[in-house]
Amino acid sequence: MKIGVIGGGQLARMLALAGLPWAHEFTFLDPAADACAGPLGRLLIADYDDERALLELAAQTDVVTFDFENVPARSLEVLAGRVPVYPGARALAAAQDRLHEKALFGELGMATAEFVAVDDGTALSAAIAELGLPAVLKTRRLGYDGKGQWLLRTAAEVEVAARELGDTPALLECLVPFEREVSLIAARGRDGAVVFYPLSENTHCNGILHTTVCRADDPLQGAAEAQVGRLLETLDYVGVLAVEFFQHRGELLANEFAPRVHNSGHWTIEGAETSQFENHLRAILGLPLGSTRPRGHYAMVNLIGAVPEPARMLAIPGTHLHHYGKTARPGRKVGHITVACAAPGVLPPELLAL
Ligand code: AMP
Repeated sequence: MKIGVIGGGQLARMLALAGLPWAHEFTFLDPAADACAGPLGRLLIADYDDERALLELAAQTDVVTFDFENVPARSLEVLAGRVPVYPGARALAAAQDRLHEKALFGELGMATAEFVAVDDGTALSAAIAELGLPAVLKTRRLGYDGKGQWLLRTAAEVEVAARELGDTPALLECLVPFEREVSLIAARGRDGAVVFYPLSENTHCNGILHTTVCRADDPLQGAAEAQVGRLLETLDYVGVLAVEFFQHRGELLANEFAPRVHNSGHWTIEGAETSQFENHLRAILGLPLGSTRPRGHYAMVNLIGAVPEPARMLAIPGTHLHHYGKTARPGRKVGHITVACAAPGVLPPELLAL
């Protein structure tokens, strides 16, 4: 099959790495000439909403998906009726706006952190009066990896954030003193079949995911599956989806969802019987979904900013290196390591010292 991907980053690259053994062919649409998925297929270098490039993508592919959630609505309009696109416009629209996302969680009975809408910087002080401090201010749209966010603890920080926010719509959330962060990755097929991976326990550093540990038999697995199952049904979702939760006082609070394969699921490449990437392809191609059973106690460590000397990493037993082939830059995800651990969550100390 010919598969089109809007976006040519590392997620698109790993989708292609999962699909090439089945002789699928990939075309990526990305404005960057050095998009890291490029070497694995054909790269259309154009803006995501470039009509000519989108028509070419539709003409050359059997199905289209995307590797990031901020695909312009205009792109989906151009593709509509020409080629099937999974996941669909509804899931994408809900994930693009934090206020709509929270409203959807509420409708589905998924608890969230307390929040209020903030229309612009001038509305921030009224929102603080309602929720109190500490709090987190987030732009409604286009935030990722901690970008478009302000942690507010003092009146001085509120003043700076109000100024920087300007007339951008946002929402204010209570700062949750969570016990831990977990995410649930699920796949739903075109026939409505659903599979769930074991919960991933995530540690962030400066708003960027750093480490994920697969938690098979987690006591919150059932509750998370019930919630995510409702979300998948409501959106008539097709493909892989990830929901990030805070665990607070033993309960789940939904933070956000990603309508795509997710960084916290990279451990599944070596650590599960079917990776999240393969299951995404199976889902969008209308094939049976694969087993999500873990192959052991797996964990993943992101390589951020630069890739350390490979020989040092590969000398650690049980490691697998994934180098995205991207230019090193501070704060940029340039690779990850999957590792088989002796016991759940016990990462080799040499790995954490890299
Ligand atoms: P997000 O972009 O919403 O995924 O936020 C990035 C990271 O910031 C999260 O994974 C948390 O570590 C932290 N964070 C975001 N919102 C909150 C909150 N309301 N309370 C506590 N920590 C938060």
